[in-house]
Amino acid sequence: QAKARGRNTYCLFSPEMQGDLRDRVTLEGELRLALQQRQFVLHYQPQFDAQTGEVGGLEALIRWQHPQYGLLHPENFIAAAEGSGLIVEIGAWVIDEACRQVRVWLDAGLVVPCLAVNVSFKQFHGHDLQGTVTAALERYRLSGASLELELTESVMLRDPDRVYAVLHGLRLMGVRLSIDDFGSGYSSLMYLKRLDVDTLKIDRAFVTDIHSEKGRAMVEAIIKIAQTLKLHTVAEGVETVTQLTELRNLNCGEIQGFLLAKPMLPDQVKVLLAEAERHNLIDQIMPANNF
Ligand code: C2E
Ligand code: MG
Ligand code: MG
Ligand code: MG
Repeated sequence: QAKARGRNTYCLFSPEMQGDLRDRVTLEGELRLALQQRQFVLHYQPQFDAQTGEVGGLEALIRWQHPQYGLLHPENFIAAAEGSGLIVEIGAWVIDEACRQVRVWLDAGLVVPCLAVNVSFKQFHGHDLQGTVTAALERYRLSGASLELELTESVMLRDPDRVYAVLHGLRLMGVRLSIDDFGSGYSSLMYLKRLDVDTLKIDRAFVTDIHSEKGRAMVEAIIKIAQTLKLHTVAEGVETVTQLTELRNLNCGEIQGFLLAKPMLPDQVKVLLAEAERHNLIDQIMPANNF
């Protein structure tokens, strides 16, 4: 699987392509074309309140509707987009498109939870991220609180002072911040002290390990850190009822994962948001004797 090779590969498909300059140039050209020809799409994965089952948030995840290869996932092209710097333009498109979609849902009369978008470290450097966000919010008449930015810990590695300044400006606009894949990267508790973060997203690797004693202890420790700092928690990659039960017992705030919902198209989100007001998805999935 492509994911197993990690995120920092340039290859579109085969490992053999990696490092081949000609293919890299081709991919870069294709990414440029994809932007022009509007081949990128966003799918949306809901996050559910672990206790009430309400949809507490949504995460926008980019896909590339490739004319030949079909629907490509970010692991196939995000690293190349970052390497070439095109991620800045792609990232700006993601922010605009996400805001546009929120406006469409709102205009359809739905109650729309906060929508999270992933941002790459490059979007902080040599680029006005705050300006991009401001423009999108204004264009679609949204308040800052409709948007959340998901950063990985690696964002802080280069020029942290600039990153802090940009994030502080965004916070003042009401934009929320979450740390993605928490615990899996270059974790430093320093940035949690300096940054006004709202949410820690517990990396899928910890969730996968939750059945073991040590794995459970790790998740518990992360949730305790979050509680102490008054931060929200979202568990990523929840795939089984056992994981869900453990996470609920540990008082995890929100649950994101294939067990409850896969990333979906805007119309499916529409149905979900309308349905969610009537049905509790978590209660439907949990064995009845848990209550
Ligand atoms: P992420 O932000 O940590 O997103 C979560 C990933 O886990 C998504 O993969 C999602 O589809 C997947 N996932 C959700 N639930 C489950 C589950 O229960 N089991 C498993 N095995 N996986 C689950 P996806 O969409 O392929 O995205 C991968 C990564 O690509 C994201 O990880 C994020 O780092 C990056 N990415 C996605 N969209 C964007 C974007 O617009 N901009 C940037 N810069 N990066 C993006
Ligand atoms: Mg949230
Ligand atoms: Mg994310
Ligand atoms: Mg993540």
